[in-house]
Amino acid sequence: MSFVVAIDGPGGSGKSTVARRVSELLGWPHLDTGAYYRAAALAVLRAGVDPDDPAAVAAEVGRHEYRQVDGRMLLDGEDVTREIRERHVTGVVSRIAAVPEVRRIMVDLQRRWVAENGGNAVVEGRDIGSVVFPDSPVKVHLTADPSTRAARRAAQMGIGPAEAEAELTARDRIDSTRDVAPLEVATGAEIVDTTHLGVDQVVSRVLDLVDQRRREISSAARDAPSS
Ligand code: C5P
Repeated sequence: MSFVVAIDGPGGSGKSTVARRVSELLGWPHLDTGAYYRAAALAVLRAGVDPDDPAAVAAEVGRHEYRQVDGRMLLDGEDVTREIRERHVTGVVSRIAAVPEVRRIMVDLQRRWVAENGGNAVVEGRDIGSVVFPDSPVKVHLTADPSTRAARRAAQMGIGPAEAEAELTARDRIDSTRDVAPLEVATGAEIVDTTHLGVDQVVSRVLDLVDQRRREISSAARDAPSS
C-alpha cells in the first residue's frame, strides 16, 4: 500500500528543508515537484517562447523529457538542478505552472515517480494534498509570516529581503489565484505555522502525524473482518 506524506506551502515556509529531513528519517524517497515546473520554465525560456502564450508554452513543455533522480532534476537528460534555481527561472515559473496542460503533464510524471519508487514517499509542492495525492494519509500545510519567509529566501538566494519579498508576493499571487490547482489548504491538511518553530520541531510534528496514521491504519486492518 502506498503512503505519501504530502507537504504543501508557499515559498519560504520551510517545505524543502522539512521534506528532505522527514524523508531521511523515514528512509523514504523525496520528490520535489517544484523542480518539475522549474525545469519546464527553463525549457520555455531556452526556446524563446513567450511565457504568457499558454498554447505555445504547452506545446514547448510537451516536447521535453523531465526526470528526478536522487534529488537531481534532469531536463532531456541534462542535469539542470542548479540552473532551475536561478532568478530568471524563478521569475517566470508561476506563469508556466498556471497552464493547465503543463500541470496535466507534470502531475502524471509525479504520480508515476511515486509508483516507480515503491509507493511510500515524502512529496512537497503546492497541490500535493489537494490534487496530486488527495488520498495521502498525512497532509501538512506549512505557512509562515511574509517577513519571515522573505528573510529565509533572502538568506538562501543571497539577495536583499525587499527583493525576496517582492518575488514571493508575485509568485503567491499567481499560485493562489490560478484556475487549476491553486495553492490552498487541502481538505484534511494540518496547518503548521513555522514562523517561530525550528526545523526539528516541525519535523517532529510531521513524524508524529506519520506514526499516528500508521497506527490507525494497522489497527483498522487488524479489526477488519477477514474474508
Ligand atoms: O517549490 P518551488 O518554489 O521550487 O516551486 C516553484 C514554482 O512551481 C511555484 O511558485 C509554483 O508556481 C510551481 N509549483 C506548482 N505546483 C507544485 C510545485 C510548484 O505550481 N506542486
